[in-house]
Amino acid sequence: MRQPIISHVRSILKASSEVSKRLMRDGKYSGSGATKRIFKRYIWGRHPWIVLSVGIFAAILGMHVYVYPTVARYIADDIVQIGMMTQVNTDPAPSVHTSDKTIPMMHQSKRYRDSWTTRLDAKPGLTTEQKLQRLALLVAAVIIWEITRHLMATHLFFATARLTQEATFHMRNHIHEKLHQLSQPYHDAHSPGRLLTHLFSDMQAMTHCFTMLMRHIPNGFAGIIAGTIITFTIDWRLALLVMCALPAYGIAYKYFSTQMRNVNRDIRERQGRLAGHIANRISLFHVTKAFSREIRETLILARTTKPLLQRQVVSGMLNTCLAATCGIIAGTTTTMVMWISAQKCLDGSMTAGELLMFHGTAANMFQPITMIINEVAVMQRLETVCAKIVRVMDEPIAIDDPNDPLNVPDSACEIRFDHLSFQYPNTPSPAIDDLDITIPAGAKVCIMGPSGSGKSTLAKLVARFYDPTEGRILVNEQNLKRFKLTDLRNLIRYVHQEPVVFSGTIGDNIRYGSEDADQQTVVKSAQNVLIHDFISTLPAKYRSLTHERGLTLSGGQKQRVNLARALVSDPHVLVLDDCTSALDADTEAKLIDNLGNVLSDRTALLVSHRVSVALSCDMVLMLDAGKMVQMGEPDQLIKQPGPFRELYEQQLARAQHAQEGTDAA
Ligand code: ADP
Repeated sequence: MRQPIISHVRSILKASSEVSKRLMRDGKYSGSGATKRIFKRYIWGRHPWIVLSVGIFAAILGMHVYVYPTVARYIADDIVQIGMMTQVNTDPAPSVHTSDKTIPMMHQSKRYRDSWTTRLDAKPGLTTEQKLQRLALLVAAVIIWEITRHLMATHLFFATARLTQEATFHMRNHIHEKLHQLSQPYHDAHSPGRLLTHLFSDMQAMTHCFTMLMRHIPNGFAGIIAGTIITFTIDWRLALLVMCALPAYGIAYKYFSTQMRNVNRDIRERQGRLAGHIANRISLFHVTKAFSREIRETLILARTTKPLLQRQVVSGMLNTCLAATCGIIAGTTTTMVMWISAQKCLDGSMTAGELLMFHGTAANMFQPITMIINEVAVMQRLETVCAKIVRVMDEPIAIDDPNDPLNVPDSACEIRFDHLSFQYPNTPSPAIDDLDITIPAGAKVCIMGPSGSGKSTLAKLVARFYDPTEGRILVNEQNLKRFKLTDLRNLIRYVHQEPVVFSGTIGDNIRYGSEDADQQTVVKSAQNVLIHDFISTLPAKYRSLTHERGLTLSGGQKQRVNLARALVSDPHVLVLDDCTSALDADTEAKLIDNLGNVLSDRTALLVSHRVSVALSCDMVLMLDAGKMVQMGEPDQLIKQPGPFRELYEQQLARAQHAQEGTDAA
C-alpha cells in the first residue's frame, strides 16, 4: 500500500516541477540583473544612507538572539558563582566523589578562573550587596538594550516601508508615463489586464520582496556569523558538531521548501484555470441547459478539481515533512550539545554559564538559515517581477517626437498619401497598399469599403497611431513625422470607432484634452453633435456623473459625447472613424449636416458605411484590400458603374423595402 502512495506523490512532485520549469521557460519567472537595476535606481540611488542604516540595524538585530544566552552566562558564571568563589577562598575546595573517580567542582577548574567574563567579576570577596549591585547594573543594561533594540526595529520598519513605498510611487509613475508613451503596436500586443498587472500586482509583489530582503538578508547573515564566532569561541569541537548539523538542516529545508513551492505554483496555475473554466460555464449556463449538459459539466469539474485536491494534500504533507525533518535535526543537535556540554561541565572543561550560552546560541542558529533560504526564493521571485517591469521600461518608443520639430500649420491642411503602405506585424499582407492620393485643404472625404479593407487603418495612420511601413503622409507638404506628437494631435483630432466615456461628469468628458475650454464652447460643441438637448434634461446637466465606463449613456449618446470632445478644440483636421454608426439614419443625417457647417474650412476624413454620409461629403474614397478602387465626387460616382454605385443601389433598395414594410404596418 505504501509503495503506490510514495510513487503517486513522486509523480505529483515531478509534474509540479515540470509546471514550474515551464512557467520559468515562458519567461514568467525569469530575468537577469533587473533587481539590481531597480534597486540601484529607485532605492539605493535615492536614499543610500537610509539603506545603509537599514542594513546595519537589521544586522545588529540579527545578533539579538544571542544577547540572552550571553546574559545567562554572565549571571551563571560571574554573579551566581561569585558566592561560591567567595566561599572557595575561605573554605577547602569541595569535591564530588563518585564510585570510580573524583570530579572537581567547576570553580576549582583553572579554565573557569580564566573565563573571559571573569576578568570583570572574579574578584574574591564580593559581598552579597556588591553582587546585587552588579545584577542591577546588568538588568539596567538589558533594559537599555531592549529599548534601543525596539527603537532600531521601529526605524527598520519605517525606513523599509518608506524606501519601498517611495520606490513604488516613482516606479508606478514612470511605468504609467511609459505606457502612455508607447505606441499603438505595443498596446495591440499587450492586453490592458497585463498592463494593469505591471502597475499594481507586480509593484505590490516587488515592494513586499524588497522589504523582506532588506530586513532579512543582513539579519540572517549577521545571525549566522555571530553564532559561528560565539560557538567557536566557547568550544570549537562542539561548534564543529553544530556546523555539521546546520548544512543538513539547510539541505532538508531547501529540498522540502523547493518542492512545496513547485507544488504551490502548480496549485495556483490550476486554480487560475479552474476559476476561468467555472466563470465561463456559469456565465454561459443557458447553453449548458439548452444542451442538457449539466451532469457532464459536473463530471468535467470533478475531473479538473481532483488533481488540484491531490496537490493540496501533497503540499500539506510536504509542509509537515519539512517541519518534522528540520525539527528533528535541530532538536537532536541541541540535545547532543546539551549532553556533551554537560559532560564537559562535569570534567571542568566548560562552565555552567558556557553551557547555557552555547546551547542558547546553537539553538538560535537554525532560524537564520531558514531566513536565508527563504530569501533566496524571494530573490528569484523579485528578479522575475523586476524583469517584467524593466521590460516595460526598456521598451523602445516606436513613435516619438522628432529632434527638430516643425510648427504645425495654422490653417486648413492638405493631406497627401505618397505611395503609402502599411502592414501590421505578423500579418501576411499589407492593410494599406500603395495609396497615392491628395485630399485638398478643407475637403471632406468619406472613406468607404468592405469590412477589413483598411479604412480604420488609414484613419489611424493619419492620426499617427502607426507609422507607414512604406511611403509618407504629408500635411501641407510636410511629413507627419516632422511634427511634435502633442501638436499633431491638437491639429488632427481622431475619434475612435469605440466611444470612450471616462468616469466623471459629462462636461469633463467633453472638455477632456481641452481643459481650458469655457462652458460656452462645451455647450456649442454639444449642440453641434445634437447631445445638448439630452444633457439639458439631466438633473445636474453638464455636471451629471457618467458611471464607470459610461454605462448610463446609450451607444449613440456616447458616440456624440466623443464627437463633441473632438470639436471642442476646433481642430484643423478631423478624422472620424465610423463614429456615428450607433445613430439612427435621421440623427446621423442631421449631425452630418451640422458638421458640414462646423467644418466649413476644415479637412475631414469620415469613415462610414452609409451612402447618406458619403453624399454629404466632397469626395468619396473607396478601398478594397488596402487599395484604392474608386475616388471622386459622390454625385459623379453614382453615375458610373462601380462599387460606390452598387453600394448606393443596395442601401436604396433596403431603405425602400423598410419604408414599404412601415407603410404596410
Ligand atoms: P476596416 O476598418 O476597413 O474594417 P481595418 O483597417 O480595421 O479594416 O483592417 C484592415 C486589415 O488589417 C484587416 O485585414 C485586419 O484584420 C487587419 N488588422 C487591423 N488591425 C490589426 C491589428 N491591430 N493587428 C493586425 N492586423 C490588424
